[in-house]
Amino acid sequence: MTRDGTPGRDSDDNRVATADRDGDRGGDGDRGGDADRYDVPPDAEAIACPRCGRPFAGRRQRDLHLGVDHADLTADERAAFEAAREEETADLRRFRILSLGLLVLLYFGFLFVYALVG
Ligand SMILES: [Zn+2]
Repeated sequence: MTRDGTPGRDSDDNRVATADRDGDRGGDGDRGGDADRYDVPPDAEAIACPRCGRPFAGRRQRDLHLGVDHADLTADERAAFEAAREEETADLRRFRILSLGLLVLLYFGFLFVYALVG
């Protein structure tokens, strides 16, 4: 962790070594205050939000957080948020279709079982 309370970075992609997280944020206002509420396992790596330091398991979750919780985004952050939102929307659409298919399969499965046994 650096002196101003920001998490130490291993590389340019905001990966944070969780061994550096000791909870000492230095009380520098909004930045870093949110990250102390989350418990990251010591052997896991988290991708930290560059604005508030909140840890995320993946880059997509971090990009979505940036677009939702922080208004003043750079052009790259805005593009990453839009891409993450499109991926998330596609995943949700696929989940809904699969869930509907499973429900229809269960419904007709029980209907046929009832028709044969009952
Ligand atoms: Zn943030």
